[in-house]
Amino acid sequence: MDFEILEILPIPVIRSAAPFQEGEEIFEMPRWHCFCCHDTGWVQPHIASLVIADYNPSRHRTPVCQACDKGRLWFHLKGNIDMRFNFRICKRLDKWERDNWKKTVMLQLENFQKRK
Ligand SMILES: [Zn+2]
Repeated sequence: MDFEILEILPIPVIRSAAPFQEGEEIFEMPRWHCFCCHDTGWVQPHIASLVIADYNPSRHRTPVCQACDKGRLWFHLKGNIDMRFNFRICKRLDKWERDNWKKTVMLQLENFQKRK
């Protein structure tokens, strides 16, 4: 099944997803190849919620990333995975997450420079 991304909401980056704790002085992008699944094969929950409006990782099937080859690791869990995130959607989510991280890193850098 193919479907359009319902809505793109600007969501705040949760602290645990930030690359470095406050106070650290190195600001750089994470080294994932795939920002859609962070190289795990699972579309990250905060990213999946961009596509599935009321996505709840504890209730819904986990979406498998189809932008990279890591999703294949989970194909055997058929019935418990959500295969609707096709290549095109995952690539868009990859770009969204990349842009989000760029902004986060830039903000951290700005905040750090302000504190100096
Ligand atoms: Zn991926």
